[in-house]
Parts: sequence; C-alpha cells; structure tokens
Amino acid sequence: MSQREFDLIHDFFAKRVSPAEDLPVGIGDDGAVLSPGAGRLAWVIDTINEGVHFPPDASGAAVGHRALAVNLSDMVAMGAAPRWMLLSLSLPSVDEDWLSDFSDGLLALAEKAGVSLAGGDTTRGPLSVAVTLLGPLHGEAVTRGGARPGDRLLVSGTLGDARAGLDIALGDGQPADAVESELLHRYLYPQARLALSPLLARHARAAIDLSDGLVGDLSHLLAASGVGAEIHSHRLPRSRALMAHAAEESESLALSGGDDYEILCAVDPASVQAMVEAAAEQGVTLSDIGQVSAEPGLKVLDANGRPVSPESGFSHFGAEDA
Ligand SMILES: [Mg+2]
Repeated sequence: MSQREFDLIHDFFAKRVSPAEDLPVGIGDDGAVLSPGAGRLAWVIDTINEGVHFPPDASGAAVGHRALAVNLSDMVAMGAAPRWMLLSLSLPSVDEDWLSDFSDGLLALAEKAGVSLAGGDTTRGPLSVAVTLLGPLHGEAVTRGGARPGDRLLVSGTLGDARAGLDIALGDGQPADAVESELLHRYLYPQARLALSPLLARHARAAIDLSDGLVGDLSHLLAASGVGAEIHSHRLPRSRALMAHAAEESESLALSGGDDYEILCAVDPASVQAMVEAAAEQGVTLSDIGQVSAEPGLKVLDANGRPVSPESGFSHFGAEDA
C-alpha cells in the first residue's frame, strides 16, 4: 500500500488507542511488548472472510464488531479474560468511510471488553480480518475435554436467532418489522458472554462456544471428553422474536443454526444452582438442556421422549470449510 494509505490506516487505529500499563510498547513499533504478570494465559485466533463468514454487503461496523466478538467468545469458553489484541486486515482497497466504520465497530467493542489493540498489519487482498487475543485465565483452563457422565448441560441465552437473522441478511437485508430487526441484529452483532468467563472457571468442567450450531459444537465437546449426551429439543431456549418469526422451524434452528456465540458448558449437578444463580446476577440466563452420559453419541429427544434425528450444523454463510 502507498504511504498515504498507511497513514490513513494509522489514523483509524493507532491514534485511537490509549496507552495501557500492561502494554509498555503498543501499536506502531515492529512489535508489541506485554507485561503479563503471573499465571497462565489463553491465546486464540479467528479469521473472518467476506462471502464466507459475513455477507459482502455487511457494514464496516458489523465486520469490525464480529471480528473481535468471535474471538472474545473463544476466550470466554476457555475461562479467560481477554486483554491484548493483534489485528491483521486484508483490504481490496482503502475506503475511508468503510474503514472509519470498521474501526468504530472494532474499537467500541474492545473498549467494552477491556481489550487493548497491541498491533496490527494491513495488506491488499480480498476482505479478510484476523484477530488474535491473549489474556490471563481466571483459574484453571476450561477445555472441551472435562465433561463427565452425570454432568448437566447448560446453555446461555437463546439459540437459533442468528441463523434466522442470516436469512434476513441474505434476503434484501431490510427487516420488515421489529422482530426481524432484532433477529438481524443478533446475526450482525454477536454478543460474547463476557460475564460468564469467571463463572465457567469456577463451576464448569468443560465448555465450548456455539459458533457452528449446538449439535455440531456439542459433538466436539463430547468427543473431546470421551462421553455422550442426551438433550431435549423442547428445552432448547428460544427467543420471543424467533417464536414470532419462525415458530415451526424454531427447534431445528436452535439445534443446528450457527453464529449464536452462546456458551455451552458441562456442570457437576452439585454446582448447577450456584452457576445458574451467579449467571442470573450478571443478567445471563442459563438453561438446562440435558445430561452427559457414559455411552458415546448424542441423542436428541422430543417432548415425548422420542428421538429426533439432528441435522448437522448449518454452515456459515456460503462456507465450504466453516
Ligand atoms: Mg470456539
């Protein structure tokens, strides 16, 4: 990129980042220097590509928000506090309005999450955003591999909204009413469950964030833990908006729809009440959707106890390799 373009990018990011004590050398040098303090760190990376993870006409603000939110969600699932961010941005061209919008979306969420932008890199190419986050664990790491038979499976918030919102985005992108606006917003602006991170460290045996859909992501957790599970489709938490918009499909959307970025965790029955109450104090509802079993495999049962054949997770927008 030309010098002028680099200066522009500098203006949109470096100028807007304030110094932090645990970041003695930040954005603008060849590398960042951190003062991480004692203890272990968690480290995550997630890349989002135009046409795969978000539609081509998504606003800069929505893309900036998403690039960070999906990484925050991974940090939460590990029981870690997100603290430092690196950004790699590939842009087809320098569009000042878009960039300004993008940095607004990214940096507004960074401020809310207590994350410092420590450095970045910009290249010319198809629109793609990679973010890495680093930060201290709240306690022991919460992995996918700790679930034991008898554990309850809890899920935060509501499921299926983002997938319904994606369908609206892929239509004309114009929500017809307040219900559609809410679902579209759920898709465009995923909210990582930051408040759950310390609670997972205290109470959960295993956790995963729901990026690809409940069935797919739960299967990853079960495989990593070497266990199975039985869940109940009628217990899957669904929003009023989803019920108003697509009541009939709501169970299948909740089972398989991606992009909700809710948290699924396995919790010892003795800890469930404490976990649910602590989450409620933080304004997060946790729903008990079933139980971990010794027998491998995932069983999805309907309200009458009959097995439902779970569709595999929906892929992200246009994704071949989501
Ligand atoms: Mg994840």
